[in-house]
Amino acid sequence: MKPQRIPFSRRRRTSLILASLTAAALTSGLLVSTGAGAGPEGEQDAAKTELDRVSQPGTTKLVVVHARTRAERVRIVDLGVDATSKVTPRGLEVILHGAQDAQALRDAGFTWSVKVKDLGKLVRANEREDAEYARTTRHSPLPSGRTSYRFLGEYNHEMTALSRRYPALVKPLTLPRRSVEGRRVRGIEITTQPHRVADGKPVFLLMGAHHAREWPSSEHALEYAYDLLQNYRRPGGDPRAKRIVANTRTIIVPVVNPDGFAVSRNAERIGDFSLFDYEMKRKNCEISENTPEEYLGGTCADNPAGRLRGTDLNRNYPGFWGGPGASPTWSSDVYRGDGPGDAPEVDNIRTLISNRQVTTLITNHTYSNLILRPPSISSTGAAPDEPVYEALGARMAAANGYTNQAAFQLYDTSGSTEDWSYWNTGGLGFTFEIGPDEFHPPFRTGVVSEYAGLAPAAGAGTGGNREAFYRMSMATLNDALHSRIIGKAPTNHRLEIRKRFISATSPVLDASGGEGPQR
Ligand SMILES: [Zn+2]
Repeated sequence: MKPQRIPFSRRRRTSLILASLTAAALTSGLLVSTGAGAGPEGEQDAAKTELDRVSQPGTTKLVVVHARTRAERVRIVDLGVDATSKVTPRGLEVILHGAQDAQALRDAGFTWSVKVKDLGKLVRANEREDAEYARTTRHSPLPSGRTSYRFLGEYNHEMTALSRRYPALVKPLTLPRRSVEGRRVRGIEITTQPHRVADGKPVFLLMGAHHAREWPSSEHALEYAYDLLQNYRRPGGDPRAKRIVANTRTIIVPVVNPDGFAVSRNAERIGDFSLFDYEMKRKNCEISENTPEEYLGGTCADNPAGRLRGTDLNRNYPGFWGGPGASPTWSSDVYRGDGPGDAPEVDNIRTLISNRQVTTLITNHTYSNLILRPPSISSTGAAPDEPVYEALGARMAAANGYTNQAAFQLYDTSGSTEDWSYWNTGGLGFTFEIGPDEFHPPFRTGVVSEYAGLAPAAGAGTGGNREAFYRMSMATLNDALHSRIIGKAPTNHRLEIRKRFISATSPVLDASGGEGPQR
């Protein structure tokens, strides 16, 4: 008989809960995101606190912490609690893990009201709803007709199938770096004569799943591929599809973070956001060099640091890396990574954008019904293209019903995708925070309704995200929103244009909140 393998969740849960009780007793009021002090010991304390925080006993709740101003929201984020990006007139939604979180908020003078009493129960209800929808629906109103969330293998399989079904319109794309666990990161390019990569057409890059648990972000990206291709081919299809496919190149990378996504999508559904609730994993699978030995070992899907192993890919981009709204602590859900842009999954996107004419970009996330644009941190000041940027965001917001604003207006988030891409390339990049609540709500509401613009989505009747993506593609066509460089080389010569740029980081914050030099 084979020796029985005991998952880390069962091996370690008891001791971690005990540890958390001690920590809660000793450290109430501690600023957990910045740790107890400078230096390696302070960093280790901060890491431990982070691990203990998600191991608190009791049910996990979704609460609205009362906060009316940006300054108050920044204070909440600085407490190191699990802040979402959902802001209502009453406050900021926070995932409350237990007594320790509650105490930290209370000590800082905050009050809150409970929105979801037991998140674990909600996930189980969603699971039942998803099974029922898939059982009773033959074809959803999505372009693909899908009725349930895809697994990683299905994304790759369907992209291969699309490139075979439409060989004159689709080119498969494999990004240069493998993921931390050695997976290929894949996408497709959609245009006429897709293999002529140097055709000079403006590129719209649409991405999903920088964050593992945000499943609708990937679904939306791949559905748009079906949408364009079907409407291009179908007599009487959306006439915009012909113009878009002929005159722009749409690059779709549905799963930027395949390791994290596979962990989340394949996990047992617990739904309480605890340490071993791998379904709620956010980051990639990189093991930080700051990780103490006791948290090494195991696999990304089963290890002593649980879902908190990894780098937050949307805090790892090198532009303004290391600043506010990202954590220097390896176990934090918003860990910025060991160095600027060091995650291979981030390097992939950076290389792609640096080598192609990406004039427009949407990176899908969940949730909060937001369209976000740079700046992502307040200290950089307004984008020079702010009027154009704001207007384009507003055109898309009119379709999906989301709030159109600059990212820093929520709170600071350094190291985000479009804050790097915009300031370095000038391409107009946006983050979509899809849906009003939950990282992966029931498929019918979180994907079908949000994409197609059906009730109960905010974009019901105005086109939803489908229409928002079409408007972004039409903006990609618009010569007023980008420049073209046209040149001629003498016969038998080749003309090459290069741009070199170096992006500075923020003054790099340390574990005590002190500012170090820029890198
Ligand atoms: Zn996200």
